[in-house]
Amino acid sequence: MKQSVLYVPTLKEAPSNAEVKSHRLLARAGLIKQTAAGVYTYLPLGIRVMQKIERIIREEHDARGCSEMLMPALQPRDLWEESGRWDDYGPALMRLKDRKERDFCLGPTHEEVITAIVRDYIDSYKKLPLALYQIQTKFRDELRPRFGLMRGREFVMKDLYTFSTDEADLDRWYATMMTAYTEIFRRSGLETKIVASDTGEIGGDQAHEFMVLSEVGEDTITYCDTCDYAANQEYSALSEGDSCPHCEGTIKTAKGIEVGNIFKLGTKYSESMNAFFTDADGQRKPLVMGCYGIGVSRTLMAAVEQHSTEDSILWPDSITPFDVHIVPLKGNEDLGRRLHDRLATQHEVLLDDRDERPGVKFKDADLIGIPWRIILGKSTKEGKAEVVNRRNDEVQLVPIDDLEVYLSGQ
Ligand code: ATP
Ligand code: MG
Repeated sequence: MKQSVLYVPTLKEAPSNAEVKSHRLLARAGLIKQTAAGVYTYLPLGIRVMQKIERIIREEHDARGCSEMLMPALQPRDLWEESGRWDDYGPALMRLKDRKERDFCLGPTHEEVITAIVRDYIDSYKKLPLALYQIQTKFRDELRPRFGLMRGREFVMKDLYTFSTDEADLDRWYATMMTAYTEIFRRSGLETKIVASDTGEIGGDQAHEFMVLSEVGEDTITYCDTCDYAANQEYSALSEGDSCPHCEGTIKTAKGIEVGNIFKLGTKYSESMNAFFTDADGQRKPLVMGCYGIGVSRTLMAAVEQHSTEDSILWPDSITPFDVHIVPLKGNEDLGRRLHDRLATQHEVLLDDRDERPGVKFKDADLIGIPWRIILGKSTKEGKAEVVNRRNDEVQLVPIDDLEVYLSGQ
């Protein structure tokens, strides 16, 4: 891919409202652009990263028997009246009217829509269980949209809904999705902590959040420095310095970014929205539901927060917008194009073919954060390229003819 045609509008200065490092970097590196408060455009580099995260999510869901679909963002008031949330959801619900004065909202979540979809068809236990998900744009008129993609008013979420005959089957899905989420965040290069967010009075945990530890996180987590214990401070009786109730360890606190959560809904929506099935024993019962969300755009942001310095991103291999960045300096433009075509058969390659000074090219390349950089400069006279491994900033002079072999050995 040629940088000159990709549209990567890098900036010298971050927008003045960019309060956190990841927001500054995403804007400066030309991945996102604000269109309105809490509303962003994903520019070509940004959408490439997002699509990679989405691919990982799809693979981990499809492998576990979940089916992808796509529901409408535009949702009629009637459904929200059925669940009682037209009133309960409050001012975060983006409401609008059509030309006939009928009320709609832009979906902040899809429990109502999905329940209405399955209730018409699922009449018997024989059609269960069912796990349906989508990756879609959500709308919430957040009180304080901020930190770029962290708390948007329009953002991309993956939401999955499971439908079971009983609690035991819901428990199975819950455990399955906990594993799936662990894999998704691990594969995306993110270190997460699983945090109990509501220990539930009826016994057992009802909800867990997946947190990326980060100073800019909006949640506070209490966790044990020795065992796996972790809880959202909102629901925890423990504080910094306490001894862990589960082991010999000590309780610590840290800020976290919630990138995903899993939740046992039970029969709240199936009862209020009349989604029943007939069980093997002939009894009519409400569907037992679970819901599982991942903030896809927030995950992108959290990845940058975790993998960057103030002036440069360093993408995990699995979600990097490109694998290799070729930077030809004056006189090496043709060589750059040829090398691009060669390497592009095996890697995702970005070629900086812009007519810019070396300093500008290097600064932008640092910002953009592609893990391998190939500089075509003076040493091309000896048939060599400078290969920079951005992970450790090691530079190797590699014969241009051997670059395929060199890169594939890494
Ligand atoms: P939060 O406590 O951060 O508001 P939530 O509990 O409202 O999150 P859910 O409704 O369960 O979140 O949404 C699922 C996921 O979507 C969250 O874990 C988070 O990663 C993401 N998310 C929620 N609200 C936003 C937002 N305004 N902007 C970006 N991502 C969001
Ligand atoms: Mg919220």
